[in-house]
Amino acid sequence: MENVVIIGSGCAGLTAAIYAGRANLKPLVIDGHEQGGQLSLTTHVENYPGFPDGIMGPELIENMRKQAQRFGAEFKAGQVNEVDLTQRPFKVVAGKDTYETKSLIVAAGATARLLGLEGERDLIGRGLSTCATCDGFFFRNKPIAVVGGGDSAMEEANFLTRHASKVYLVHRRNEFRASKIMIDRAKANPKVEFVTPFTVEQIIAPQGHVEGARLRNLETNEAREITVDGVFVAIGHDPNSTVFKGKLDMDSNGYLIANHGSLTKIPGVFIAGDVQDHRYRQAVTAAGSGCMAALDAEKFLEEHKD
Ligand SMILES: Cc1cc2nc3c(=O)[nH]c(=O)nc-3n(C[C@H](O)[C@H](O)[C@H](O)COP(=O)(O)OP(=O)(O)OC[C@H]3O[C@@H](n4cnc5c(N)ncnc54)[C@H](O)[C@@H]3O)c2cc1C
Repeated sequence: MENVVIIGSGCAGLTAAIYAGRANLKPLVIDGHEQGGQLSLTTHVENYPGFPDGIMGPELIENMRKQAQRFGAEFKAGQVNEVDLTQRPFKVVAGKDTYETKSLIVAAGATARLLGLEGERDLIGRGLSTCATCDGFFFRNKPIAVVGGGDSAMEEANFLTRHASKVYLVHRRNEFRASKIMIDRAKANPKVEFVTPFTVEQIIAPQGHVEGARLRNLETNEAREITVDGVFVAIGHDPNSTVFKGKLDMDSNGYLIANHGSLTKIPGVFIAGDVQDHRYRQAVTAAGSGCMAALDAEKFLEEHKD
């Protein structure tokens, strides 16, 4: 019987593991499909406090993991495919393994949608990004492209003009899902050029770093090449919450909903990180909410010692 099982080993899960470990709870962390989470995919992280010269994402996450291990956290490979939250102890099933636990922290994160182009994933951190707040600063006075047609694409395009010399907003339709006010704002921005109805056929990166993009007009079949140092894919995120459908409250996009802090409608089940946050989506906010979840779990276990 575990005191606390933590689903996910990104910033949120690992921070929860550090706090739960230091509370002598011997947390069990289930890694999931992506050990270390989204930060393990990237290169430079310059906005995580405490690192004046920045730090590589995989190194930051490895440090968190070692810190959690130092305080007794145990790690298991595996993907949780079923949970029974109807009674305590909760049951967590990961393949052939079933764990029983007095409390549960869900820190399963989210997955940024990509375009589905060949080699695209390898370019993350090498000119391809899914996070303007994280990576915009790396493109000072450089031309970049934002791909997408929703509010977040418009917001990212506008935000990125603070850094970039020019922003191509590439969208496959002439109409946008984004709200009128966001479209108008982007259209009024002299640094933003709308490129529609174009789809990205290829990201040009002969040296392993983005140098441009090959586009195709979906109405005329015209081909166009743009020279850019960065491509920001802003077509949405999918929270990794399928396992909790019908079990925990979630919004229409699948993001888990907390009642207060990290608390859910089920006493003893707590949520943290990007799986419950479609607004901030930062390493430090995920880590902060992981801390909250561990403190809430600790308090819960203290109050339910039976
Ligand atoms: C390319 C890129 C660059 C970024 N750069 C920065 C940056 O510079 N600064 C910054 O602050 N933020 C950055 N971010 C955002 C930051 O990485 C995320 O906000 C943060 O990782 C969220 O942490 P998390 O723990 O909530 O989720 P994630 O990092 O998404 O981790 C989720 C974890 O849950 C696991 N999991 C999922 N489903 C299951 C399951 N069913 N069973 C078991 N485990 C499961 C996964 O394997 C993973 O370990 C970047 C993101 C990306 C993609």
